[in-house]
Amino acid sequence: MGRGFVEEEIMRCLICKRGSTEPGTTTVTLERDGLIMVIKGVPAQVCENCAEAYVDEKVASELLTSAEAAAKSGAKVEIREYVTA
Ligand SMILES: [Zn+2]
Repeated sequence: MGRGFVEEEIMRCLICKRGSTEPGTTTVTLERDGLIMVIKGVPAQVCENCAEAYVDEKVASELLTSAEAAAKSGAKVEIREYVTA
């Protein structure tokens, strides 16, 4: 009965292989040069089944860049809220 239509935005979860992902937010923890950075409210695709979060590559590298900047300034622990550039 289906028309073979595939919704490309919906990604099958790689961890549980059962759930599909939905847009949501997650908390990301990064370790960089002795710095631990926690970023809350990061946009991600979240598995409805096991809650595994998939962060966009662009967002991930953005976070890494700000972690490097914070590490350079000598911070050891940094907790921040994600802000859209
Ligand atoms: Zn899953």
